[in-house]
Amino acid sequence: MCATYGGVPVSGKRVLACDICKSRNYSVTSAKKSDTRLTVKKFCKRCNGHTLHVETR
Ligand SMILES: [Zn+2]
Repeated sequence: MCATYGGVPVSGKRVLACDICKSRNYSVTSAKKSDTRLTVKKFCKRCNGHTLHVETR
């Protein structure tokens, strides 16, 4: 089954994992297709602080 958003297939789902503990804390949807990996500073409750989160697939 494919997930749809108002009839439009969702393709750009990315999961952001903490670079330190590798915990998958966030998921984002991106319409843009790019080969570069997303890196965002976000709060990780495992590390109890802001860490770099890297896109995983
Ligand atoms: Zn962490």
